[in-house]
Amino acid sequence: MSKKLKKLSSLLAEVADLHNAAALLGWDQQTYMPRAGAEARGYQMGTLGKIAHEKFTSDTVGKLLDELKDAYHPESDDPYDILLDQFERGMKTAEVTDIFAALRPRQVELIKAITERPQVDASFLQGPFDEQKQWDFGIKVITGFGYDWTRGRQDRSAHPFTTSFSINDVRITTRFEKDHPAASLFSTMHEAGHALYELGCCQSFERSPLAGGASLAVHESQSRLWENLVGRSLPFWEHFYPAYQQLFAPALAGVDLMSFYRAINRVEPSLIRVNADEATYNLHIMLRLELEIGMIDGTIAVRDLREIWNARMEEYLGITPPDDARGVLQDVHWSGGSLGYFSTYALGNLISAQLWEKINSDIPDLADRFRRGRFDGLLTWLRDKIHVHGRKYEPQELVQKVTGSKIDPAPYIRYLQRKYGEIYGI
Ligand SMILES: [Zn+2]
Repeated sequence: MSKKLKKLSSLLAEVADLHNAAALLGWDQQTYMPRAGAEARGYQMGTLGKIAHEKFTSDTVGKLLDELKDAYHPESDDPYDILLDQFERGMKTAEVTDIFAALRPRQVELIKAITERPQVDASFLQGPFDEQKQWDFGIKVITGFGYDWTRGRQDRSAHPFTTSFSINDVRITTRFEKDHPAASLFSTMHEAGHALYELGCCQSFERSPLAGGASLAVHESQSRLWENLVGRSLPFWEHFYPAYQQLFAPALAGVDLMSFYRAINRVEPSLIRVNADEATYNLHIMLRLELEIGMIDGTIAVRDLREIWNARMEEYLGITPPDDARGVLQDVHWSGGSLGYFSTYALGNLISAQLWEKINSDIPDLADRFRRGRFDGLLTWLRDKIHVHGRKYEPQELVQKVTGSKIDPAPYIRYLQRKYGEIYGI
């Protein structure tokens, strides 16, 4: 490492320390802090954020970056590229729109076919499911996944999240929803997927900008993989369902494995993105992306968003929002200024299915292992191929290196068609 790069790394290590300390204050704020601590906490986080910002934008760092300018990004072809690049390093708007153009008609077609079939019964998932038992079951599942309790913990919060203070301290939270008792388990698996990624990072990346995940999409591919491809799969439930059914009797008494499996995979076009199922989720994202790109390139005026939103919800999902709270004004990303963020959620789904095909060809007895409650082979594969690299590669580079091609929507379409074809008899 050159002298200059060493100096830059040590300055950035201090910035990482400040961010990690602020993250700890944020975690405490959302889990244990008494309400009256809010004002002082606001000052503390503000001060830490200010110092971190001053250090990061200092003349010394700027001069070093100038001198080491291979760190720099090339000029962009599209103004939206800049927004996207904050979350998906190196990804181009044209690449995302091409992927979504291939995906959209196939997903719309699949959803139309599903809605023409008789709906799956999921009424028994309403509970009652005892909260402590839900908590215990979630802990048992993610312990089986390989979550290391000496390097993490789980707490409750209003909105589930994963936070990392170091490679050896990555914590998760979960929540319990009265109307969706099984949601807590899926949220626990989702956040554990994020945490396993951060915990698997190469230890020598500690206190450097290389620690963490390659991008938001790659991060989301890990959480979705554990939540959906593992946690909503039949082999997983062949192992866990007898214990789950016994724990939540009488709600699940008389509900056989296949009925339960279909229920947790029920597809229903819905208004709110965060509650959307696997088959409809990406369409919420594509709609957002189209509107964002239109706002940036000037083809869509902000005052027309509502009308366009409602028309496309009808076109893609066959439903129209009754009000803007359940329509164009949902989600905090736009009001918080996070334009460029949304596509990462859908790209994460695509990457998860693409990795899944590769994993299944490398580990042909994966389903049998799940039936025996064995997830270590999967975790080892993910660690070796994805986790250990931290932020070393750009997302497209990493996906190409691991699967042999860049982000490709075909595996996800194959996955949805196979899974929902069986469940809905299409
Ligand atoms: Zn996530």
